[in-house]
Amino acid sequence: VGSGSLAPPILTHLQRKCATPLPVLRHVADAMASDMRSGLAADGASDLKMILSYVHSLPTGHEKGLFYALDLGGTNFRVLRVQLGGIDNRVVDTEFEQVVIPEDLMFGNSEQLFDFIASGLARFSQKESEKFHLTHGRKREIGFTFSFPVKQTSIDAGILMKWTKGFAVSGTEGRDVVSCLNEAMERQGIDMRVSALVNDAVGTLAGARYWDEDVMVAVILGTGTNACYLERMDAIPKLKGGKPGPGRTIINTEWGAFSTGLPLTEFDEDMDASSINPGEQIFEKTISGKYLGEIVRRVLLKMAEVDGLFGNSVPDKLATPFSLSTPNLCDMQQDNSINLRNVADILTQTIGVPLSSLSARKMVVEVCDTIVKRGGRLAGAGIVGILEKMEQDSKGLIFGKRTVVAMDGGLYEHYPQYRSYLQDAVTELLGAETSKNIVIEHSKDGSGIGAALLAASNSKYR
Ligand code: ADP
Repeated sequence: VGSGSLAPPILTHLQRKCATPLPVLRHVADAMASDMRSGLAADGASDLKMILSYVHSLPTGHEKGLFYALDLGGTNFRVLRVQLGGIDNRVVDTEFEQVVIPEDLMFGNSEQLFDFIASGLARFSQKESEKFHLTHGRKREIGFTFSFPVKQTSIDAGILMKWTKGFAVSGTEGRDVVSCLNEAMERQGIDMRVSALVNDAVGTLAGARYWDEDVMVAVILGTGTNACYLERMDAIPKLKGGKPGPGRTIINTEWGAFSTGLPLTEFDEDMDASSINPGEQIFEKTISGKYLGEIVRRVLLKMAEVDGLFGNSVPDKLATPFSLSTPNLCDMQQDNSINLRNVADILTQTIGVPLSSLSARKMVVEVCDTIVKRGGRLAGAGIVGILEKMEQDSKGLIFGKRTVVAMDGGLYEHYPQYRSYLQDAVTELLGAETSKNIVIEHSKDGSGIGAALLAASNSKYR
């Protein structure tokens, strides 16, 4: 392959820049803990927003009755109902439905979008079978998961700061999204009420905790990333107004914006500079599913240009941003064949490499592993940072007993190497003894049921 022998220096350099030995992990974990503290002290004092969820009542298992959840966070919205049977019967029944949002509604006005959602909810609620029963004298209550940046003002109200993820709906920004939904439900003639407005990480924490009281932290690793955790009210200095009671609440860290001490490369810097939000969401750009494939593509492009990794020409598709996805990296890393046949096929299909030598395929897999290892290990360090902050304030209550971190999102769910690199970093940082107490586990669709559970634990009829 041309002058392929020159490629190793680029790989060696990349591996050196992306290395995450224990001191680097330790520094990241400590910085996460201290940035959390600054964000709790005052708004705007840290990369971490440390947003109050206004969730003061967590599900206990005693909730009873019929509750709904509505989840809007991307190109689909999901509706779900659950019949809760209290401590003995738990989740008696659940049903859900997923509806694709027509593209034109993503560019329309607020009434059109919310009317579409409310009419979907109306149709779903009309199909309620006799397995579900509403307690006499109550309205159907909804937990509304809304995964866009919201300034929450109470458990059931929050102002949309800006649409993201390709939505450009006019007339919603600056408004309370719960009012928008309530008004649309009224126009559609549905007699339901929103009892909890939650973000998806918060929903995951609530959903996982319903089954396991040791759950203290929830982390989403999907297209993007976020984390939330249970905090003591008296450990939130920026909560001045009301007298902080003895209770606890969920803090949404918005940790994707973290940026201290990360081992970054020229490839990360270039990707950031050409992104729609340069300088923002640096942790997210290093560890989450939207970006891992793109970082690898940029490395391979340089290897192809400088060292002729794929022969004398550089495929056009290799120069196309986001032509290589994180699931592509994952598929390539699962190829255990001697000649890496699947790697070759994926390189052809995604970035248009007509033919690759075995040494080039091996090089590609090494690059994937380098970027995925860095991502997984840094995510692990971030988790330890959160646990460390909690432990500092409540000695022995985190590291000295069983503590569960609930994980969700497609990247964590589907990428085995990422998952084990994350676990390795946690174990290295905590040491063999302490890490026995820290359980990092996948929580399957916690967030849907979690929102319904939060509607129940924050019911207007309590
Ligand atoms: P979202 O975060 O978009 O709400 P998900 O939690 O399902 O939804 O995450 C989807 C993301 O997970 C994808 O964008 C992709 O980055 C990642 N992902 C999905 N499948 C895989 C896979 N097989 N291997 C690695 N990453 C995957």
